Amino acid sequence: MKINIKSLISPNIRNLRAYSAKEIPCRVKLDANESPYGFEINADILKATTTNRYPDPEAKTLKKIVSKNLRLNPENILFGNGSDELIYYLIIVFGGPVLYPVPAFSMYGIISQALGEKRIEVPLDDEFDLDTDRILSLIKKEKPRIIFLSSPNNPTGNCFSADRILKIVEFTSSSVTGHWSLVVVDEAYQPFSSEKGFLPMLSDYKNLVILRTLSKIGFAGLRVGFMIADSEIINEVNKVRLPFNLNSLSQSVAAALIKDSNIIKLHVGLITSERERLLNELWKTKGIKPYPSEANFILFKVKNSDKIYDRLLKKGILVRNMRETVNGCLRVTVGTKKENNIFIKALKEVMK
Ligand SMILES: *Cc1c(COP(=O)(O)O)cnc(C)c1O
Repeated sequence: MKINIKSLISPNIRNLRAYSAKEIPCRVKLDANESPYGFEINADILKATTTNRYPDPEAKTLKKIVSKNLRLNPENILFGNGSDELIYYLIIVFGGPVLYPVPAFSMYGIISQALGEKRIEVPLDDEFDLDTDRILSLIKKEKPRIIFLSSPNNPTGNCFSADRILKIVEFTSSSVTGHWSLVVVDEAYQPFSSEKGFLPMLSDYKNLVILRTLSKIGFAGLRVGFMIADSEIINEVNKVRLPFNLNSLSQSVAAALIKDSNIIKLHVGLITSERERLLNELWKTKGIKPYPSEANFILFKVKNSDKIYDRLLKKGILVRNMRETVNGCLRVTVGTKKENNIFIKALKEVMK
């Protein structure tokens, strides 16, 4: 008899769909919230990397630089192979139920499902902000062990109100309510935001975890993300971390290139000013409703979004079709001035 592999797959994986990250050939790539600005890796950086030895399991050099840049204690930082990996680890360590608003970054749901944990999805309100009444009542009812809030939120682009986030953090950290959960504020897009973010709150709330990544500021190819939390949480997560999760090249290249934070700031400045220009252009385009953004992308609503997506692709421009998460919406990453001009021109043509 032929072996039926399907029957061997654990049931929660059997029904899972892989994260769709196909390579679609295009001329202008504005679908994955990458930075349009890369960095050159010089020969000295490469020469300093050894291939026959395992990487530093603690990424000490990189940790020193990141903690200095953000004025943090190295004990409060843990690196992942992208922040995706840390989302995985956090759910492994704390378990479910896992609560998050929708639409949100798809990995919270995919990883929870892969690990067989219950998911509690709470729709955002009409302004894409947190529906705190509903969230608090679900916390009471479902007792989630971990809550993910990405702010600025992907794919909507806005920051959630800081007082609403704080209300959730407070509610889940108080011995008065007795409802304890870990609250993970995913700040993947924080560098593009006008808000301060939640790093300053860390010392006040032991259940608060912040996720950051280098992916959106020019290093998506290196896969370097990190979490910032109380050292007790760091130590627990470190127990499940694969020993050499951050490879030598990523460590040495990231360490050498983020030392000069001025270049990164320059790029971020270019992207945020282009974002405002792009937003303005989208507002002026008939039939398009863009949403304000604190990130490096813009979500916009358009009639016949599938058709517009296809027509843009025919012109070589790749955006993200959000059909499955925000119906009728497309998401465009802010590119270089030139790329944005090509996109706007093409969009105006296909809207006719
Ligand atoms: C892109 C993104 C991440 C993943 O970042 P990596 O560090 O590349 O794994 C995490 N959270 C959100 C909200 C994102 O949009």
